Amino acid sequence: MKIICIGRNYVAHARELNNEVPQEPVIFMKPDTALLRNNDPFYIPDWSHNLHHEVEVIVRINRIGKNIEKRFAHRYYTEIGLGVDFTARDVQDQLREKGLPWEKAKAFDCSAVLCPEFVPVASFADLQNVNFRLDINGQTVQSGNTAQMIFPIDELIAQISRYFTLKIGDLIYTGTPAGVGPVKIGDRLEGYLEDKKMFDFLVK
Ligand code: ZN
Repeated sequence: MKIICIGRNYVAHARELNNEVPQEPVIFMKPDTALLRNNDPFYIPDWSHNLHHEVEVIVRINRIGKNIEKRFAHRYYTEIGLGVDFTARDVQDQLREKGLPWEKAKAFDCSAVLCPEFVPVASFADLQNVNFRLDINGQTVQSGNTAQMIFPIDELIAQISRYFTLKIGDLIYTGTPAGVGPVKIGDRLEGYLEDKKMFDFLVK
């Protein structure tokens, strides 16, 4: 399986990092070794001093597809979840300055937090109107609604599958809303899709 991530898919987040609002989706990937599952603790790597949380809605692909038309994209998934795209912002800034790829900042071990269970798409009245949030130590630090996506889920699937064949089990991290910031040892991160708790883990 592969993990496909979307950058700058929410206007307010693109602006908070002084990035342009993109004309087409910003796409990058993480390897399967990036997964952190089952509410296991996240250990801050010793080579970063500015490790940021990015809470993101996740789509799990359940059908193989290439060059998927937007109007058929909904046939390629039945569940969504929630996770964290951990980002070593200090390393990312250094790499971006030099025009280098982001992998060391974005795709390192345990950088892709995955919720233990997914939620059926059918349980939402409108997939592009779903509230989600991240609480740290009981305080909400990021909250968003899928209506704020620049590129909605079906558009993302159409764009991604022009370049990459989607396979069963692939995960799409659909981008983060505003409010990203550093985590520190001892923090407790809890993520919610609407009122349903999706993950709950500690930073060590
Ligand atoms: Zn992200």
